[in-house]
Amino acid sequence: MYSQSRRRKISGRQSEESSDDENYVPYIPVKQRKKAQFQNVEMRLGRAAALIKEEEEAIKQSTSEGSEISEREDEDNSGEEEETQGAGERSHISLLDQHSELKKKAEAKKETAREKLLKEEERILESVAEKTALMGVAELAKGIQYQEAIKTGWLPPRCIRELSETRHERLRKKMHILVEGEDLPPPIANFKEMKFPKAIISGLKKKGITKPTPIQIQGIPTVLLGRDMIGIAFTGSGKTLVFTLPIIMFCLEQEKRLPFIKGEGPYGLIICPSRELARQTHEIIQYYSQCLADDGFPLLHCGLCIGGVSVKEQLEVIKAGIHILVATTGRLMDMLNKKMVTLDVCRYLAMDEADRMIDMGFEEDVRTIFSYFKSQRQTLLFSATMPKKIQNFARSALVKPVTVNVGRAGAASLDVIQEVEYVKQEAKMMYLLECLQKTAPPVLIFAEKKQDVDSIHEYLLLKGVEAVAVHGGKDQEERTRSVDQFKHFKKDVLVATDVASKGLDFPDIQHVINYDMPEDIENYVHRIGRTGRCGKTGIATTFINKTVEESILLDLKHLLIEAKQNCPPFLAGMTSESEKYLDIGGEVGCSYCGGLGHRISDCPKLEALQTKQAQNIGRRDYLANNSADW
Ligand code: ADP
Ligand code: MG
Repeated sequence: MYSQSRRRKISGRQSEESSDDENYVPYIPVKQRKKAQFQNVEMRLGRAAALIKEEEEAIKQSTSEGSEISEREDEDNSGEEEETQGAGERSHISLLDQHSELKKKAEAKKETAREKLLKEEERILESVAEKTALMGVAELAKGIQYQEAIKTGWLPPRCIRELSETRHERLRKKMHILVEGEDLPPPIANFKEMKFPKAIISGLKKKGITKPTPIQIQGIPTVLLGRDMIGIAFTGSGKTLVFTLPIIMFCLEQEKRLPFIKGEGPYGLIICPSRELARQTHEIIQYYSQCLADDGFPLLHCGLCIGGVSVKEQLEVIKAGIHILVATTGRLMDMLNKKMVTLDVCRYLAMDEADRMIDMGFEEDVRTIFSYFKSQRQTLLFSATMPKKIQNFARSALVKPVTVNVGRAGAASLDVIQEVEYVKQEAKMMYLLECLQKTAPPVLIFAEKKQDVDSIHEYLLLKGVEAVAVHGGKDQEERTRSVDQFKHFKKDVLVATDVASKGLDFPDIQHVINYDMPEDIENYVHRIGRTGRCGKTGIATTFINKTVEESILLDLKHLLIEAKQNCPPFLAGMTSESEKYLDIGGEVGCSYCGGLGHRISDCPKLEALQTKQAQNIGRRDYLANNSADW
């Protein structure tokens, strides 16, 4: 229809033109014709120029709308303009009124700019958020969604149940505990009321533990009630007991009901990001199991499943029937694959330093491990740092989760005195020796690269310092020996890469030295968190120089300010464009990585990830995989 009518129109016009042609056209002198032509060109040019001008104006307008924020500084000027106009129009209104009205307008304008920025950030976060939930493939495929938390046989004692919610709220407030979720479990301020047997209470006492820490006050009842949980608390605040003590109690209950037989189990699984942390957690569980066994309870069996150790030995323990298995993902996946371990009866899963695991690219492995579960499990995630991106993503794996937060996620422990020193690259090694004098041993030195760890180790040995070293390139036997020697005060200094930065609990570390600044701020928080644990204070010294990226220095600067630490002048003097908008909206800093010195729109980590993803398009999966030392 349309084309037909159009065709008709054209033909009509043609016929008009042809009839014009037939008409007589009088002669026009060349001069006049030229003038007319010139005017024509001028007119056409004029329209073109006008069009260009119009276009330019439109662009200007749209950009000024889009980047109102970047022009916020100019707003004062434009405000002034409006003011003079307004004054001309409405000179009968008092100046004060005019001022307040204009101020309101300016505020509203700022508000919308802020909202726009927040919306934009939300969009970025959404676009980078994981598309698939952190669930096993089977659960995803069958669309299984559990609605209710697992039921356990534990109930808070009557005296706690009878307390009103306001009393609970008061205790949480006093302890600076933030909780989120439905049907919040009550906080309990002592171990006895958590109904732990005497054997556990005296075992705790032997370790100098008499009163629960804030994360334990809220976390242990939550776990004992069978609820899924995300636990965020400072390094050294006692998170380990929040997931180990309840699993010991659950296994004891199971064992009493129906003793575990050969080949059965595990009932509880704990996944850790490093072999050393897994060994440490395994030792803690064995300690409390032994306390119980000594008091006449059945002995619980706990297996350890980590790389670098013979599979045969591990398998023997597992085959005898185990209640709890502590594992790193690599070896666990391997053993699950070969059907050496099954998770058929596993009902309890805790991930320690959960965000570090997902962040290091082991999310796919975690998902694979999830797919080996045969029925609903209780899932617990713990860490000192937990960026929003990971919290949202992790929540998809949890059922009616309770989030317990003690201190801002990603904040450093306030018991660590943080010092940052400018040391030239070539002077670092020499200065290290001087720096070691700051405190008595034990001292922990971190470096990013394995070669640096080796050369520092060698240098210290040459200078007569009793030092040991750990990194992913060393064999497991040496790693274990070094850590043990350091832990038992046989060596004064441990030099390590980030394998030793997460979760390891060395007693009484006096000083943590960062030979270099880690590439992301969360690693910094974890590294310095090896000292200043559980009420003790410690020092952290970090070497920085020109080689460190600006964005990470800005994050560091804001972290120091937040923790009320001394900020050296060269850091304090650093500013960036994006710093102006850091505290827009409720959340301070970057919602992707948690860094305080930038917003998500300037996140270097996100940028690096996107570049990596772009590079990996079309590559094979295993090439894209992170191959850290698990
Ligand atoms: P996180 O995992 O939060 O970094 P850990 O669980 O490793 O911290 O605990 C740090 C140290 O604090 C350990 O040596 C532990 O024995 C000790 N600890 C744990 N809970 C308490 C407590 N309630 N009172 C005193 N010390 C505790
Ligand atoms: Mg820990």
